[in-house]
Amino acid sequence: MTQESFRQVQFVTKISKFCNLRCAYCYEFAELGERERMSPEQLRQMYTHMRDYYVQKDQEDGIRTHLHIVWHGGEPLMIEPDYYWRTLDDQRTIFGDSLRTSNTVQTNLTVLDDERIRLLRDGFDNVGVSLDLFSGLRVNIAGRDQQEKVVAHMERLRSEGIPFGCITVLTKKNLARVKDTFSFYERAGIGFRVLPLFEGAYADQHEAYDITVPEIVSALNQIADLWLTSDNPVQVSPLDYQLQIVLRHLDPEAPRSYFNQREWLPVIVVNTPGDIYAYGDPYEDPQASLGNIFTTPLGELLSGPRFDASAREAEVRMAANCLNCKYFGACSGAAIANNRDNVHTVVDGIGVCDVDRAVLEHIENRLRTGDVLDRNGRVKAVTAPAVDPVS
Ligand code: SF4
Repeated sequence: MTQESFRQVQFVTKISKFCNLRCAYCYEFAELGERERMSPEQLRQMYTHMRDYYVQKDQEDGIRTHLHIVWHGGEPLMIEPDYYWRTLDDQRTIFGDSLRTSNTVQTNLTVLDDERIRLLRDGFDNVGVSLDLFSGLRVNIAGRDQQEKVVAHMERLRSEGIPFGCITVLTKKNLARVKDTFSFYERAGIGFRVLPLFEGAYADQHEAYDITVPEIVSALNQIADLWLTSDNPVQVSPLDYQLQIVLRHLDPEAPRSYFNQREWLPVIVVNTPGDIYAYGDPYEDPQASLGNIFTTPLGELLSGPRFDASAREAEVRMAANCLNCKYFGACSGAAIANNRDNVHTVVDGIGVCDVDRAVLEHIENRLRTGDVLDRNGRVKAVTAPAVDPVS
């Protein structure tokens, strides 16, 4: 029996900015005390607009969409679980069988009770936990590090049989502990994503722990070396997709693909008032918004002049970076077109692919100097760690 393939779209949904922590680098820092949240009615409008757009697009394109709703904040679990149970009910009513849907929550995991355990186990499909290890930057309002509590709650999730992955923000504070960070996750058997620090809520916010592009590349390369030689590899993002790019690059028969925002926008941020953004656009700039998903059909938001301007900027970034990159095709260009996480340098107003390309080169060199390529430079055998769902 062949498995049906789905195209993926993520809506990073800022349900509320309210948070019990004050992590030093948070890009929402100025809004963390604001209690406004999306209303059930607004969410129903959002689901209806999603359903109408993707069901029609699936019929036109003859392929099915897997819609991921990623609950983000602020701290999403500050909101009472009943609120989520009701909106999950609304999703069942509105989506029915028309789309495949998943719900992920990205949490600081400092607030956990029996009701929240039940929600994480039986309501959401995926759980992502923010955990930096060794940085001391994830603090409460009184400035006290919350890590001990988070690790204790991770133990509770494990004892309850709730799978989860982690996100670790890379800063100057934990840069020297990359090996220890990898060992922690490897020993625990927990997959993780390394998220290099990017722009904060205000100028100079990151002064005390900012990180340079060479430091980011060096840290990711170090993790790549540990990962590629690990006897018990866990999923490590972004290295998982970067390894796949290198393997495609080394195989002339592997299919090539080219990112095109006009055909498919894979990650969309929904701000608390409902304004949406392409992930590669500056989400803090209201001018970059594609419009409001509570009030406007998604088909209108993903066409028209604002969308056109956003797509054009993605094309400019790709043209400036990818056309002279040997990985283009094996890499679709999404890293520069649609991903702000690994783009740290801007020249003449255009983002530079300053991290991904360097890490791809490093992984390729490691494969070339290891015993995994044949005489023609093709891969003999590589056991890639399994790729888990998005966290
Ligand atoms: S420049 Fe960056 S995004 Fe473009 S193909 Fe190369 S690695 Fe991929």
